[in-house]
Amino acid sequence: MIDIYTLYTLLTLAALGKAGLILLVAPQYPRRITRAMHFWALGGLMIGMNFTLHVFANRALISDSLALGGAVTVGIGGAVLIFVAVQELRERTYSKLALAGLFAFVAISNAYTLHTARDQLRIITNSAVTATVFFMITYALVRSMPPSGRSIYRVTGFLTLSLTVIFVIRAVNPLILGFAITHPLVDNWVQELTYSAILLGNVLGSLCFGLIVAEELNVELHQLASFDSLTRIYNRRVFENFATDELGQARIKRESISLLMIDIDHFKQVNDRHGHPAGDAALIRVAEVMANCLRHRDLFCRYGGEEFAVLLPATTQKQAISIAERLRIATLEAGFRHGGSEIPLTVSIGVSSVDLPPYDLNVIKQHADQALYTAKQTGRNRVAVA
Ligand code: GH3
Ligand code: MG
Ligand code: MG
Repeated sequence: MIDIYTLYTLLTLAALGKAGLILLVAPQYPRRITRAMHFWALGGLMIGMNFTLHVFANRALISDSLALGGAVTVGIGGAVLIFVAVQELRERTYSKLALAGLFAFVAISNAYTLHTARDQLRIITNSAVTATVFFMITYALVRSMPPSGRSIYRVTGFLTLSLTVIFVIRAVNPLILGFAITHPLVDNWVQELTYSAILLGNVLGSLCFGLIVAEELNVELHQLASFDSLTRIYNRRVFENFATDELGQARIKRESISLLMIDIDHFKQVNDRHGHPAGDAALIRVAEVMANCLRHRDLFCRYGGEEFAVLLPATTQKQAISIAERLRIATLEAGFRHGGSEIPLTVSIGVSSVDLPPYDLNVIKQHADQALYTAKQTGRNRVAVA
């Protein structure tokens, strides 16, 4: 049977190995994921150092009280960094000052209770703070979870909530046990529960965090593959996939469906007169204005360059024309300023509708393009119908 200090040495090595591996692979990921992984590695390392200090004390390299206070302080500091990792991953803000304050409180309260030999108070305070940090991690995990990754966030949240409950039990140990725990290594069921939870939590927590990172990468790749990076609306590829599905649905239901092809007028002049960044900002503005005019069900994409497409399910030609007019007027009236100058923006829109088979994307697209051409030929800033 290996003794506890050999186990602690192995846990230290495992923590070092884990942190090294994470730091090694982290840089190749998107920034928010890399940052989260750095905090995760550092947090794990600090939690691992908690064991190291006990080994050092056993080898008489440091005093027992330094090991006692130091171990719990770095352990809680590590848990705080796991909280930071989750916040970074979800791109949320957090108060560095408040977290540093919490860490300072743990360090000072441990120094004080060790100095004054208030062991019972020390264990209760440390357990209560640890429970608080695990609760913060739980809340950070389960609030506004990404839709596609709910299950792994929930499982991890359940794990950290269990740890919260265990540390609450430890914090109120005198009430449950009838006596108080006064040393971290005394043996009773609350202690066994706590240490088992720390060990299991460490292993399962790492696995969960790895799965969360994998899920976030998945989301990131999906975003990259589906959305236009400038305007953040669908790209042409995704639009065409969804549009084919919608046309199939319309055929089954025998519903009308309409397509708008939208092109910004004299866009080249915007670039030529005001520069490419102004052109980019104009594209973002137009996409934003139009997105605000559309229903949730409408499919809106950047078709390419300064051209947009909107597929309007369950929409007749008459309705489509009025929606197109609404988009045209909204763009005209929205106004656009860049670098101190007012830049007028207008769009021309081609409308095409089908209510008879074949509900074919190529056909409806061709008709909308012809209508768009007519709108351009007849003066721009107008809607034309195929
Ligand atoms: P028309 O009214 O006939 O549509 O004239 P236009 O100038 O809008 O048409 P044209 O197709 O000649 O020009 C489109 C311009 O859109 C050319 C291209 O440089 C610009 N463009 C395409 N994509 C982007 C982009 O992502 N950013 C910027 N800034 N410009 C872009
Ligand atoms: Mg064009
Ligand atoms: Mg144009």
